Amino acid sequence: MRILVTGGAGFLGSHLIDRLMEAGHEVLCLDNFFTGRKRNIIQWMNHPNFELIRHDITEPIRLEVDQIYHLACPASPIHYQYNPVKTIKTNVMGTLNMLGLAKRVKARFFLASTSEVYGDPDVHPQSEDYRGNVNCIGIRSCYDEGKRVAETLAFDYHRQNGVDIRVVRIFNTYGPRMLENDGRVVSNFIVQALQGKPLTVYGDGSQTRSFCYVSDLVEGFIRLMNSEHIGPMNLGNPGEYTILELAQTIQNMVNPDAELVYQPLPQDDPKQRQPDITRAKQWLNWEPTIPLDKGLKQTIDYFRDRLKQP
Ligand code: NAD
Ligand code: UDP
Ligand code: UDP
Repeated sequence: MRILVTGGAGFLGSHLIDRLMEAGHEVLCLDNFFTGRKRNIIQWMNHPNFELIRHDITEPIRLEVDQIYHLACPASPIHYQYNPVKTIKTNVMGTLNMLGLAKRVKARFFLASTSEVYGDPDVHPQSEDYRGNVNCIGIRSCYDEGKRVAETLAFDYHRQNGVDIRVVRIFNTYGPRMLENDGRVVSNFIVQALQGKPLTVYGDGSQTRSFCYVSDLVEGFIRLMNSEHIGPMNLGNPGEYTILELAQTIQNMVNPDAELVYQPLPQDDPKQRQPDITRAKQWLNWEPTIPLDKGLKQTIDYFRDRLKQP
């Protein structure tokens, strides 16, 4: 198959491309390199089945493909809040363009949505039928509301134009190839600990998150894409930890002498988050296999090498 991956030079997109290339597909990687890096896909640059397209999805593009994995969008709060209007354009106009493309060429369309559609949830854990608690005028809304519209667009193109869609709601995922200045909690804590800097805990660290290792997530992507279910479907690891527990775990693994410092909690920071993955288990027979300590070790090894490079 010929498969388009938008955001393919990013963290999740590049791991997905590895799997698709290894399976023998022809892969088109489309990226504007806002948070993506060529080094993430360098291993495929000279491969005859691989093509790199530098393009911004807020502009239309005509391509001929069988499947579209639509991942392009900055995912870390510091990056999506850097230019919030651009984040909305990417989610709305960008997703519209990719759905227009899917409609024209009759490609199956996979949307990387997010647990952020549940906002600061007042139902716990979150199942797919929970409708969320999102502040539509806060600093996170360019991303949360953008993804909510992206889901709406996907379902409307499905109902109105018969586009074959797959929608996944991704919960916090970590692993090698996150940017060292990504700003998300796992990469921040690991890089800080490796550099002998204090680990920055926002608030009192009692807020919770559930962390999925990247290879588990990508397996779920591929299973949903090739199933008959359209979603939406939660994908994530139900193991729930406080941010303080995560800090202490990384501290123990990397540098027990590293200090913890407390900084203000960002506005609208969700207090708790844990996926209900009943649907993924039933529909795809999918569940995460990599425990936190194993995934963290692989991620720490990656950053240890990465920080040695220029
Ligand atoms: P990332 O920032 O590493 O990757 C995003 C990629 O999209 C980057 O390569 C970036 O350059 C590209 N991009 C951004 N705007 C673009 C535009 N206008 N045109 C073309 N390319 C553009 O982030 P990630 O963690 O790999 O996330 C990938 C997708 O998964 C995103 O849609 C994100 O919302 C979603 N997601 C990720 C997580 C997570 O924990 N990693 C959680 C929920 C949802
Ligand atoms: N589009 C695109 N590539 C295509 C087909 C469409 O980028 O191969 C864009 C198109 O420019 C439009 C959007 O997708 O902005 C939605 O397309 P659709 O055909 O659904 O709507 P229309 O063009 O009729 O507004
Ligand atoms: N966080 C933290 N220190 C950091 C970065 C993040 O304590 O250096 C907290 C953040 O406030 C949030 C949690 O960790 O409660 C997860 O943050 P991240 O940005 O990774 O993801 P999201 O908030 O989008 O789930």
